[in-house]
Amino acid sequence: MNLLLPRALLRPATPSERGARHAAKVERIARALARRGGGDGPLSLKKKAVSHQVPKRGDKRRLDAKLDVSDLDEILEIDPVARTCVAEPGVTFVDLVTATLAHGLAPIVVPELETITIGGAVSGCSLESMSFRHGGFHDTCLEYEVITTDGAVLRCTPDNEHRLVFEMMHGSFGTLGVLSKLRFRLVPAKRYVKVTYDTYPTLGEYTAAIRRYAAADDVDFIDGIIHAPNKHVLSVGRFVDDAPYTHRYDWVRVYWKSTGTRIEDYLRTRDYFFRYDRGVTNVQPRSLVGRLLFGKLLSSARLLRLADVANRFLSADRPNVTVDLFLPIAKVEDFMRWYRGAIDHFPLWCVPYRRVRYYDWIAPHYFDGVDDELFLDIAIYGLAQPPGRNYYKEIEDELPRVKGIKTLISHNFYDEETFWTIWNKESYDAAKAITDPKNLLRDLYTKTCRAARGL
Ligand SMILES: Cc1cc2nc3c(=O)[nH]c(=O)nc-3n(C[C@H](O)[C@H](O)[C@H](O)COP(=O)(O)OP(=O)(O)OC[C@H]3O[C@@H](n4cnc5c(N)ncnc54)[C@H](O)[C@@H]3O)c2cc1C
Repeated sequence: MNLLLPRALLRPATPSERGARHAAKVERIARALARRGGGDGPLSLKKKAVSHQVPKRGDKRRLDAKLDVSDLDEILEIDPVARTCVAEPGVTFVDLVTATLAHGLAPIVVPELETITIGGAVSGCSLESMSFRHGGFHDTCLEYEVITTDGAVLRCTPDNEHRLVFEMMHGSFGTLGVLSKLRFRLVPAKRYVKVTYDTYPTLGEYTAAIRRYAAADDVDFIDGIIHAPNKHVLSVGRFVDDAPYTHRYDWVRVYWKSTGTRIEDYLRTRDYFFRYDRGVTNVQPRSLVGRLLFGKLLSSARLLRLADVANRFLSADRPNVTVDLFLPIAKVEDFMRWYRGAIDHFPLWCVPYRRVRYYDWIAPHYFDGVDDELFLDIAIYGLAQPPGRNYYKEIEDELPRVKGIKTLISHNFYDEETFWTIWNKESYDAAKAITDPKNLLRDLYTKTCRAARGL
Protein backbone atom coordinates (compact mmCIF):
# COMPACT_ATOMS: atom_id res chain seq x y z
CA MET A 1 0.00 0.00 0.00
CA ASN A 2 2.75 2.42 1.01
CA LEU A 3 4.45 1.85 -2.34
CA LEU A 4 1.58 3.68 -4.00
CA LEU A 5 1.98 6.83 -1.93
CA PRO A 6 4.51 9.57 -2.71
CA ARG A 7 7.31 9.44 -0.13
CA ALA A 8 6.54 12.95 1.12
CA LEU A 9 3.06 11.87 2.18
CA LEU A 10 4.30 8.98 4.31
CA ARG A 11 4.18 9.72 8.01
CA PRO A 12 7.65 9.22 9.57
CA ALA A 13 7.65 6.42 12.16
CA THR A 14 7.36 7.58 15.76
CA PRO A 15 10.19 6.66 18.16
CA SER A 16 8.00 3.98 19.76
CA GLU A 17 7.17 2.46 16.36
CA ARG A 18 10.86 2.40 15.50
CA GLY A 19 11.62 0.85 18.90
CA ALA A 20 8.98 -1.87 18.38
CA ARG A 21 10.33 -2.62 14.91
CA HIS A 22 13.84 -2.91 16.31
CA ALA A 23 12.70 -5.24 19.11
CA ALA A 24 11.01 -7.54 16.57
CA LYS A 25 14.20 -7.73 14.47
CA VAL A 26 16.30 -8.53 17.53
CA GLU A 27 13.88 -11.24 18.59
CA ARG A 28 14.01 -12.86 15.14
CA ILE A 29 17.83 -12.90 15.12
CA ALA A 30 18.05 -14.14 18.72
CA ARG A 31 15.67 -17.01 17.93
CA ALA A 32 17.61 -17.98 14.80
CA LEU A 33 20.87 -18.04 16.78
CA ALA A 34 19.46 -19.98 19.73
CA ARG A 35 18.11 -22.66 17.36
CA ARG A 36 21.51 -23.28 15.79
CA GLY A 37 23.75 -25.97 17.22
CA GLY A 38 27.53 -25.85 17.61
CA GLY A 39 27.97 -28.61 14.99
CA ASP A 40 26.01 -26.79 12.25
CA GLY A 41 29.12 -25.27 10.65
CA PRO A 42 30.38 -21.69 10.73
CA LEU A 43 27.99 -18.82 10.36
CA SER A 44 28.63 -15.32 9.06
CA LEU A 45 26.50 -12.25 8.65
CA LYS A 46 24.58 -11.08 5.63
CA LYS A 47 24.18 -7.32 5.65
CA LYS A 48 22.65 -5.00 3.07
CA ALA A 49 25.70 -2.83 2.30
CA VAL A 50 28.75 -4.32 0.59
CA SER A 51 31.59 -5.49 2.83
CA HIS A 52 34.70 -3.30 2.94
CA GLN A 53 37.09 -6.11 3.71
CA VAL A 54 39.81 -6.51 1.14
CA PRO A 55 38.35 -9.15 -1.25
CA LYS A 56 40.25 -12.43 -0.95
CA ARG A 57 40.24 -15.34 -3.31
CA GLY A 58 39.04 -18.48 -1.52
CA ASP A 59 37.81 -16.66 1.61
CA LYS A 60 35.82 -19.38 3.36
CA ARG A 61 33.44 -16.79 4.72
CA ARG A 62 31.85 -16.63 1.28
CA LEU A 63 30.66 -20.23 1.62
CA ASP A 64 29.41 -19.99 5.23
CA ALA A 65 25.76 -20.31 6.15
CA LYS A 66 24.41 -16.77 6.53
CA LEU A 67 22.58 -15.08 9.35
CA ASP A 68 20.46 -12.39 7.72
CA VAL A 69 20.86 -9.08 9.56
CA SER A 70 20.15 -6.93 6.52
CA ASP A 71 17.10 -5.26 8.07
CA LEU A 72 19.21 -3.80 10.91
CA ASP A 73 19.77 -0.56 9.02
CA GLU A 74 17.66 2.10 10.68
CA ILE A 75 18.56 5.27 12.58
CA LEU A 76 16.45 5.01 15.73
CA GLU A 77 17.05 8.38 17.38
CA ILE A 78 19.07 11.57 17.03
CA ASP A 79 19.11 13.68 20.18
CA PRO A 80 20.33 17.15 19.15
CA VAL A 81 20.54 18.35 22.75
CA ALA A 82 22.52 15.45 24.22
CA ARG A 83 24.34 15.17 20.84
CA THR A 84 23.90 11.44 20.66
CA CYS A 85 22.51 9.02 18.12
CA VAL A 86 21.07 5.52 18.47
CA ALA A 87 21.19 3.40 15.34
CA GLU A 88 21.28 -0.12 14.03
CA PRO A 89 24.62 -1.49 12.83
CA GLY A 90 23.77 -1.63 9.12
CA VAL A 91 23.36 2.15 8.84
CA THR A 92 25.92 3.43 6.35
CA PHE A 93 28.02 6.48 7.14
CA VAL A 94 26.66 8.32 4.11
CA ASP A 95 23.10 7.96 5.44
CA LEU A 96 24.19 8.81 8.95
CA VAL A 97 26.05 11.94 7.83
CA THR A 98 23.02 13.11 5.82
CA ALA A 99 20.69 12.59 8.79
CA THR A 100 22.93 14.20 11.40
CA LEU A 101 23.97 17.19 9.25
CA ALA A 102 20.26 18.09 9.09
CA HIS A 103 20.65 18.83 12.84
CA GLY A 104 23.99 20.65 12.42
CA LEU A 105 25.80 17.61 13.84
CA ALA A 106 28.13 14.92 12.54
CA PRO A 107 29.34 11.52 13.70
CA ILE A 108 32.81 11.62 15.26
CA VAL A 109 35.21 9.69 13.00
CA VAL A 110 33.57 9.15 9.61
CA PRO A 111 35.44 6.48 7.61
CA GLU A 112 36.11 7.81 4.13
CA LEU A 113 34.02 5.38 2.09
CA GLU A 114 30.31 6.14 1.84
CA THR A 115 28.90 2.67 2.47
CA ILE A 116 31.03 1.55 5.41
CA THR A 117 28.50 0.77 8.15
CA ILE A 118 28.65 1.75 11.79
CA GLY A 119 28.56 -1.91 12.86
CA GLY A 120 31.39 -2.76 10.49
CA ALA A 121 33.41 0.22 11.75
CA VAL A 122 33.22 -1.13 15.31
CA SER A 123 33.61 -4.84 14.50
CA GLY A 124 36.36 -4.19 11.95
CA CYS A 125 38.26 -0.94 12.16
CA SER A 126 37.77 2.74 11.47
CA LEU A 127 39.88 5.82 11.43
CA GLU A 128 40.00 9.14 9.67
CA SER A 129 41.05 12.70 10.06
CA MET A 130 39.26 13.25 13.41
CA SER A 131 41.20 10.29 14.87
CA PHE A 132 44.09 12.49 16.06
CA ARG A 133 41.71 13.65 18.78
CA HIS A 134 39.13 10.87 19.17
CA GLY A 135 40.72 7.55 18.18
CA GLY A 136 38.42 5.23 16.23
CA PHE A 137 34.66 5.37 15.75
CA HIS A 138 34.31 2.79 18.56
CA ASP A 139 35.90 5.31 20.93
CA THR A 140 32.89 7.56 20.38
CA CYS A 141 30.40 4.80 21.27
CA LEU A 142 28.58 4.82 24.60
CA GLU A 143 26.60 1.61 24.47
CA TYR A 144 26.16 -1.54 22.38
CA GLU A 145 23.35 -4.03 22.24
CA VAL A 146 24.80 -7.47 21.50
CA ILE A 147 22.92 -10.67 20.69
CA THR A 148 24.84 -13.74 21.85
CA THR A 149 24.72 -16.99 19.90
CA ASP A 150 22.69 -18.43 22.81
CA GLY A 151 20.02 -15.86 21.95
CA ALA A 152 20.59 -13.59 24.98
CA VAL A 153 20.45 -9.82 24.42
CA LEU A 154 23.11 -7.87 26.34
CA ARG A 155 23.26 -4.15 26.99
CA CYS A 156 26.97 -3.36 27.14
CA THR A 157 28.50 -0.10 28.37
CA PRO A 158 32.06 0.82 29.44
CA ASP A 159 31.10 0.48 33.10
CA ASN A 160 28.31 -2.06 33.51
CA GLU A 161 28.61 -5.82 34.09
CA HIS A 162 29.20 -6.36 30.35
CA ARG A 163 32.13 -3.96 30.23
CA LEU A 164 34.46 -6.62 28.85
CA VAL A 165 32.15 -7.38 25.92
CA PHE A 166 31.86 -3.64 25.25
CA GLU A 167 35.65 -3.28 25.13
CA MET A 168 36.25 -6.40 23.04
CA MET A 169 33.68 -5.69 20.31
CA HIS A 170 36.15 -3.50 18.48
CA GLY A 171 38.09 -5.54 15.94
CA SER A 172 36.20 -8.73 16.78
CA PHE A 173 35.25 -9.20 13.09
CA GLY A 174 31.86 -10.72 13.79
CA THR A 175 33.20 -13.42 16.12
CA LEU A 176 31.67 -12.11 19.38
CA GLY A 177 27.93 -12.26 18.69
CA VAL A 178 25.84 -9.83 16.70
CA LEU A 179 26.00 -6.11 17.34
CA SER A 180 22.36 -5.04 16.99
CA LYS A 181 22.26 -1.43 18.25
CA LEU A 182 24.78 1.31 19.02
CA ARG A 183 24.57 4.58 20.91
CA PHE A 184 27.30 7.08 20.09
CA ARG A 185 28.30 10.72 20.38
CA LEU A 186 27.97 13.43 17.73
CA VAL A 187 29.80 16.75 17.31
CA PRO A 188 28.64 20.12 16.02
CA ALA A 189 29.39 20.50 12.32
CA LYS A 190 29.39 23.45 9.94
CA ARG A 191 28.47 23.57 6.26
CA TYR A 192 31.99 23.56 4.86
CA VAL A 193 35.50 22.38 5.61
CA LYS A 194 38.52 24.50 4.75
CA VAL A 195 41.66 22.44 4.26
CA THR A 196 45.19 23.82 4.14
CA TYR A 197 48.15 21.83 2.88
CA ASP A 198 51.58 22.12 4.49
CA THR A 199 54.51 20.42 2.75
CA TYR A 200 57.57 19.13 4.64
CA PRO A 201 60.74 17.82 2.97
CA THR A 202 61.68 15.39 5.75
CA LEU A 203 59.78 12.83 7.77
CA GLY A 204 61.20 14.27 10.99
CA GLU A 205 59.70 17.69 10.25
CA TYR A 206 56.44 16.01 9.27
CA THR A 207 56.00 14.01 12.48
CA ALA A 208 57.05 17.07 14.52
CA ALA A 209 54.30 19.09 12.80
CA ILE A 210 51.74 16.34 13.51
CA ARG A 211 52.73 16.34 17.18
CA ARG A 212 52.44 20.15 17.29
CA TYR A 213 48.97 20.24 15.72
CA ALA A 214 47.73 17.34 17.86
CA ALA A 215 49.01 18.97 21.05
CA ALA A 216 47.55 22.39 20.18
CA ASP A 217 44.21 20.65 19.54
CA ASP A 218 42.80 23.69 17.73
CA VAL A 219 41.91 22.19 14.33
CA ASP A 220 39.10 19.77 13.45
CA PHE A 221 40.82 17.38 11.01
CA ILE A 222 44.35 16.13 10.28
CA ASP A 223 45.51 13.60 7.73
CA GLY A 224 48.07 13.63 4.95
CA ILE A 225 49.80 12.05 2.02
CA ILE A 226 53.46 11.12 1.76
CA HIS A 227 53.84 11.66 -1.98
CA ALA A 228 57.54 10.77 -2.04
CA PRO A 229 60.40 10.43 0.48
CA ASN A 230 61.07 14.18 0.17
CA LYS A 231 57.46 15.37 -0.05
CA HIS A 232 55.24 14.97 3.00
CA VAL A 233 51.92 16.82 2.83
CA LEU A 234 49.86 17.45 5.94
CA SER A 235 46.18 18.28 5.32
CA VAL A 236 44.72 20.32 8.15
CA GLY A 237 40.98 20.97 8.14
CA ARG A 238 38.63 23.27 9.98
CA PHE A 239 34.84 23.52 9.91
CA VAL A 240 33.81 26.91 8.43
CA ASP A 241 30.43 28.58 7.80
CA ASP A 242 31.24 30.07 4.39
CA ALA A 243 33.31 29.09 1.40
CA PRO A 244 34.49 31.21 -1.54
CA TYR A 245 34.31 28.10 -3.80
CA THR A 246 33.97 24.34 -3.31
CA HIS A 247 35.41 21.24 -4.94
CA ARG A 248 34.19 17.66 -5.12
CA TYR A 249 36.34 14.62 -5.73
CA ASP A 250 33.83 12.07 -6.96
CA TRP A 251 34.38 12.22 -10.71
CA VAL A 252 37.40 13.55 -12.62
CA ARG A 253 39.36 15.23 -9.80
CA VAL A 254 41.52 13.00 -7.56
CA TYR A 255 41.75 14.12 -3.96
CA TRP A 256 45.15 12.72 -2.95
CA LYS A 257 46.77 14.27 -6.02
CA SER A 258 45.21 17.64 -5.24
CA THR A 259 47.03 17.68 -1.89
CA GLY A 260 50.33 17.81 -3.78
CA THR A 261 49.46 20.85 -5.87
CA ARG A 262 47.07 23.02 -3.84
CA ILE A 263 47.75 25.29 -0.87
CA GLU A 264 44.17 25.27 0.33
CA ASP A 265 40.76 23.94 -0.64
CA TYR A 266 37.11 24.19 0.40
CA LEU A 267 34.69 21.27 0.38
CA ARG A 268 31.08 20.89 1.47
CA THR A 269 31.20 18.95 4.73
CA ARG A 270 29.61 15.86 3.23
CA ASP A 271 32.03 15.94 0.29
CA TYR A 272 34.95 16.37 2.68
CA PHE A 273 33.97 13.24 4.63
CA PHE A 274 33.82 11.12 1.47
CA ARG A 275 36.62 12.79 -0.51
CA TYR A 276 38.44 9.45 -0.84
CA ASP A 277 35.37 7.42 -1.84
CA ARG A 278 36.75 6.84 -5.35
CA GLY A 279 39.87 5.33 -3.77
CA VAL A 280 42.42 6.76 -1.34
CA THR A 281 45.65 6.57 -3.34
CA ASN A 282 44.41 3.94 -5.80
CA VAL A 283 41.64 5.84 -7.56
CA GLN A 284 39.99 3.97 -10.41
CA PRO A 285 39.95 4.51 -13.36
CA ARG A 286 43.54 5.73 -13.35
CA SER A 287 43.37 7.75 -16.57
CA LEU A 288 41.65 11.12 -16.89
CA VAL A 289 39.64 9.89 -19.88
CA GLY A 290 38.60 6.76 -18.01
CA ARG A 291 37.40 8.85 -15.08
CA LEU A 292 35.63 11.25 -17.40
CA LEU A 293 33.71 8.34 -18.93
CA PHE A 294 33.21 6.05 -15.94
CA GLY A 295 34.35 7.97 -12.82
CA LYS A 296 30.83 8.93 -11.75
CA LEU A 297 29.76 5.29 -11.84
CA LEU A 298 32.69 3.70 -10.04
CA SER A 299 31.99 4.39 -6.40
CA SER A 300 33.88 2.32 -3.81
CA ALA A 301 30.74 0.25 -3.20
CA ARG A 302 30.41 -0.64 -6.91
CA LEU A 303 34.09 -1.56 -7.21
CA LEU A 304 33.89 -3.83 -4.15
CA ARG A 305 30.76 -5.52 -5.51
CA LEU A 306 32.55 -6.12 -8.82
CA ALA A 307 35.55 -7.58 -6.97
CA ASP A 308 33.20 -9.85 -5.07
CA VAL A 309 31.54 -11.11 -8.24
CA ALA A 310 34.96 -11.63 -9.87
CA ASN A 311 36.37 -13.29 -6.73
CA ARG A 312 37.75 -16.35 -8.56
CA PHE A 313 39.88 -14.14 -10.81
CA LEU A 314 41.68 -12.49 -7.89
CA SER A 315 45.29 -13.53 -7.36
CA ALA A 316 45.67 -16.16 -4.64
CA ASP A 317 49.49 -16.14 -4.63
CA ARG A 318 50.33 -12.48 -4.94
CA PRO A 319 47.35 -10.34 -3.98
CA ASN A 320 47.86 -6.59 -4.09
CA VAL A 321 48.71 -5.01 -0.75
CA THR A 322 46.05 -2.94 1.00
CA VAL A 323 46.84 -2.51 4.66
CA ASP A 324 46.78 -0.03 7.54
CA LEU A 325 49.76 0.08 9.89
CA PHE A 326 49.45 1.79 13.27
CA LEU A 327 52.84 2.96 14.50
CA PRO A 328 53.71 4.81 17.70
CA ILE A 329 54.68 8.22 16.35
CA ALA A 330 58.13 8.00 17.94
CA LYS A 331 58.84 4.86 15.90
CA VAL A 332 57.70 6.14 12.50
CA GLU A 333 61.15 7.18 11.28
CA ASP A 334 62.61 3.87 12.40
CA PHE A 335 59.89 1.93 10.55
CA MET A 336 60.22 4.04 7.41
CA ARG A 337 63.98 3.37 7.25
CA TRP A 338 63.13 -0.33 7.04
CA TYR A 339 60.28 0.35 4.61
CA ARG A 340 62.47 2.33 2.23
CA GLY A 341 64.94 -0.56 2.05
CA ALA A 342 62.35 -3.33 1.83
CA ILE A 343 59.35 -1.99 -0.11
CA ASP A 344 59.76 1.69 -0.99
CA HIS A 345 56.29 2.31 -2.43
CA PHE A 346 54.68 5.77 -2.45
CA PRO A 347 52.20 7.52 -2.10
CA LEU A 348 51.12 6.59 1.41
CA TRP A 349 48.06 7.86 3.26
CA CYS A 350 48.79 9.02 6.83
CA VAL A 351 46.26 9.42 9.61
CA PRO A 352 47.32 10.50 13.12
CA TYR A 353 45.43 8.44 15.71
CA ARG A 354 45.16 9.01 19.45
CA ARG A 355 44.92 5.93 21.65
CA VAL A 356 42.37 7.53 23.92
CA ARG A 357 42.38 4.77 26.51
CA TYR A 358 43.90 1.44 27.38
CA TYR A 359 42.71 -1.02 24.72
CA ASP A 360 41.67 -4.38 26.14
CA TRP A 361 42.17 -6.23 22.89
CA ILE A 362 45.92 -5.57 22.74
CA ALA A 363 48.08 -8.12 24.59
CA PRO A 364 48.98 -6.68 28.01
CA HIS A 365 52.71 -6.16 27.39
CA TYR A 366 52.70 -5.40 23.69
CA PHE A 367 52.96 -1.64 24.18
CA ASP A 368 55.51 -1.83 27.01
CA GLY A 369 57.96 1.02 26.49
CA VAL A 370 55.55 3.04 24.32
CA ASP A 371 54.83 6.23 26.25
CA ASP A 372 53.09 8.01 23.42
CA GLU A 373 49.33 8.10 23.00
CA LEU A 374 49.77 9.41 19.47
CA PHE A 375 50.10 6.89 16.67
CA LEU A 376 50.39 7.35 12.94
CA ASP A 377 48.39 5.11 10.66
CA ILE A 378 50.28 4.55 7.43
CA ALA A 379 48.04 3.06 4.76
CA ILE A 380 49.24 1.30 1.63
CA TYR A 381 46.62 0.88 -1.10
CA GLY A 382 46.74 -1.47 -4.08
CA LEU A 383 50.50 -2.13 -4.20
CA ALA A 384 51.39 -4.99 -6.62
CA GLN A 385 53.83 -7.58 -5.21
CA PRO A 386 56.83 -8.75 -7.23
CA PRO A 387 57.29 -12.50 -7.78
CA GLY A 388 58.77 -14.36 -4.81
CA ARG A 389 57.87 -11.70 -2.25
CA ASN A 390 55.13 -11.63 0.37
CA TYR A 391 54.98 -8.03 1.55
CA TYR A 392 52.17 -8.82 3.97
CA LYS A 393 54.35 -11.32 5.83
CA GLU A 394 57.42 -9.09 5.67
CA ILE A 395 55.45 -6.23 7.22
CA GLU A 396 54.01 -8.55 9.90
CA ASP A 397 57.53 -9.65 10.81
CA GLU A 398 58.76 -6.07 11.05
CA LEU A 399 55.90 -4.54 13.06
CA PRO A 400 56.65 -5.99 16.54
CA ARG A 401 60.12 -4.40 16.43
CA VAL A 402 58.51 -0.96 16.28
CA LYS A 403 55.43 -1.92 18.39
CA GLY A 404 53.19 -1.52 15.36
CA ILE A 405 49.81 -3.12 14.74
CA LYS A 406 48.17 -3.88 11.42
CA THR A 407 44.43 -4.02 10.87
CA LEU A 408 43.05 -7.45 10.03
CA ILE A 409 40.88 -6.37 7.08
CA SER A 410 43.22 -7.81 4.44
CA HIS A 411 45.60 -10.77 4.11
CA ASN A 412 47.06 -12.06 7.36
CA PHE A 413 49.83 -14.63 7.63
CA TYR A 414 50.44 -14.73 11.40
CA ASP A 415 50.99 -18.10 13.04
CA GLU A 416 48.70 -18.55 16.03
CA GLU A 417 51.37 -18.16 18.68
CA THR A 418 52.64 -14.86 17.29
CA PHE A 419 49.09 -13.59 16.75
CA TRP A 420 48.27 -13.93 20.45
CA THR A 421 51.42 -12.07 21.47
CA ILE A 422 49.81 -9.01 19.85
CA TRP A 423 46.07 -9.54 20.44
CA ASN A 424 44.85 -10.29 23.97
CA LYS A 425 43.85 -13.95 24.15
CA GLU A 426 42.75 -13.92 27.77
CA SER A 427 40.28 -11.07 27.32
CA TYR A 428 39.15 -12.42 23.95
CA ASP A 429 38.44 -15.90 25.33
CA ALA A 430 36.53 -14.42 28.28
CA ALA A 431 34.32 -12.34 25.95
CA LYS A 432 33.91 -15.31 23.59
CA ALA A 433 32.65 -17.50 26.46
CA ILE A 434 29.86 -14.97 27.03
CA THR A 435 28.93 -14.05 23.48
CA ASP A 436 29.58 -17.18 21.40
CA PRO A 437 30.06 -20.18 23.69
CA LYS A 438 28.99 -22.53 20.86
CA ASN A 439 31.69 -21.07 18.57
CA LEU A 440 29.23 -20.60 15.71
CA LEU A 441 31.20 -17.62 14.43
CA ARG A 442 34.81 -18.97 14.47
CA ASP A 443 37.42 -17.41 16.72
CA LEU A 444 39.29 -14.26 15.74
CA TYR A 445 42.52 -15.98 14.73
CA THR A 446 40.78 -18.69 12.68
CA LYS A 447 38.52 -16.22 10.91
CA THR A 448 41.06 -13.55 10.01
CA CYS A 449 44.25 -15.56 9.52
CA ARG A 450 43.07 -18.96 8.30
CA ALA A 451 39.52 -19.00 6.91
CA ALA A 452 40.17 -15.71 5.10
CA ARG A 453 43.03 -17.49 3.25
CA GLY A 454 40.84 -20.47 2.41
CA LEU A 455 42.44 -22.68 5.09
C1 LIG B 1 39.38 -0.56 -0.04
C2 LIG B 1 39.15 -0.26 1.42
C3 LIG B 1 39.27 1.05 1.86
C4 LIG B 1 39.05 1.36 3.20
N1 LIG B 1 39.15 2.65 3.60
C5 LIG B 1 38.89 2.97 4.87
C6 LIG B 1 38.92 4.32 5.31
O1 LIG B 1 39.16 5.22 4.53
N2 LIG B 1 38.70 4.58 6.63
C7 LIG B 1 38.41 3.57 7.49
O2 LIG B 1 38.19 3.82 8.64
N3 LIG B 1 38.37 2.29 7.10
C8 LIG B 1 38.59 1.97 5.82
N4 LIG B 1 38.54 0.66 5.44
C9 LIG B 1 38.32 -0.37 6.45
C10 LIG B 1 36.87 -0.54 6.81
O3 LIG B 1 36.41 0.55 7.56
C11 LIG B 1 36.73 -1.79 7.66
O4 LIG B 1 37.09 -2.90 6.87
C12 LIG B 1 35.32 -1.95 8.19
O5 LIG B 1 35.34 -3.00 9.11
C13 LIG B 1 34.34 -2.23 7.07
O6 LIG B 1 33.04 -2.16 7.55
P1 LIG B 1 31.80 -2.67 6.70
O7 LIG B 1 30.65 -1.87 7.13
O8 LIG B 1 32.09 -2.77 5.27
O9 LIG B 1 31.57 -4.13 7.33
P2 LIG B 1 31.96 -5.55 6.81
O10 LIG B 1 33.20 -5.50 6.00
O11 LIG B 1 30.78 -6.18 6.22
O12 LIG B 1 32.26 -6.23 8.19
C14 LIG B 1 33.48 -6.04 8.87
C15 LIG B 1 33.55 -7.10 9.97
O13 LIG B 1 32.61 -6.75 10.94
C16 LIG B 1 31.69 -7.80 11.14
N5 LIG B 1 30.37 -7.21 11.33
C17 LIG B 1 29.69 -6.41 10.48
N6 LIG B 1 28.50 -6.08 11.01
C18 LIG B 1 28.43 -6.70 12.22
C19 LIG B 1 27.44 -6.76 13.24
N7 LIG B 1 26.29 -6.14 13.13
N8 LIG B 1 27.70 -7.51 14.34
C20 LIG B 1 28.88 -8.17 14.47
N9 LIG B 1 29.83 -8.14 13.53
C21 LIG B 1 29.63 -7.43 12.42
C22 LIG B 1 31.75 -8.65 9.89
O14 LIG B 1 31.46 -9.99 10.21
C23 LIG B 1 33.19 -8.48 9.46
O15 LIG B 1 34.03 -9.41 10.05
C24 LIG B 1 38.73 0.33 4.11
C25 LIG B 1 38.61 -0.97 3.66
C26 LIG B 1 38.82 -1.28 2.32
C27 LIG B 1 38.64 -2.69 1.85
